[in-house]
Amino acid sequence: MRPLRSIIAGLVASILLSGPVGDVAAAAKAAKARPKPVQSPAKCEMPKFRIVVDVGHTPDSYGALSARNDPEFGFNFRLARLITAKLKSEGFAATRLLVTDGKARPSLFKRVSVANDGRADLFLSVHHDSVPDKLLDTWEFDGAKSYFSDRFSGHSLFVSERNPHFSTSLKLARLIGRQLKEQGLHYASQYSLPVMGRYRRQLLDKDVGVYRYDGLIVLSRTRSAAVLLEAGSIINRDEEMEMNSAERQEMIAGAVAAAVGEFCERR
Ligand SMILES: [Zn+2]
Repeated sequence: MRPLRSIIAGLVASILLSGPVGDVAAAAKAAKARPKPVQSPAKCEMPKFRIVVDVGHTPDSYGALSARNDPEFGFNFRLARLITAKLKSEGFAATRLLVTDGKARPSLFKRVSVANDGRADLFLSVHHDSVPDKLLDTWEFDGAKSYFSDRFSGHSLFVSERNPHFSTSLKLARLIGRQLKEQGLHYASQYSLPVMGRYRRQLLDKDVGVYRYDGLIVLSRTRSAAVLLEAGSIINRDEEMEMNSAERQEMIAGAVAAAVGEFCERR
């Protein structure tokens, strides 16, 4: 059991440094310098198409804490690994899983460097969602005071208008959102609500749940098209259990791989 102080530290770290409910500190300064676009190949040849599947956060700076006190990093790692395997099995042989270590903020720049140095064609960052602190309720789990919020659930997709391939990124995000919707999954609609405060985002596609988040470093500084997927909420007690299930993980990984396949065909 993690001591409470460590849990709180984890929560604070996740709020400051994670994905859309987080990363705000980094967001303000991010991407002032627009990266130079790299010319992507006109056609997508599956075996040569370089996809980076980024595991959100690091073992040291693990992102959000779930309702049952499991770190987000583990959820991200399991799902990103599955997505990578799925993409490879569908013929995207040049897909790589990116695991980054160290502290949160430097790790964001490391990810961008790896993607840009490796001349990635596509960057997909995998995360799991939480809620702002003020929305947290408390419960007892495993004998310890723990935090949850059952108010919101669902996945969401984020793209940055500062990315040099914004419209391509948006296209891919929409395809992923469409595939997830076809699996009967719903998106997290709260990001457009006032209750989200500084985490509030512009909804670019209200049908499949794509939001605009310009400041995210991994989206704005990558020279390839880039999408961040919040696969589901792990602070929601029911959804956390679903995100832990092999069925849900397979469903999401399959949906992402199908979307990337479609994306490639259309280029
Ligand atoms: Zn995250």
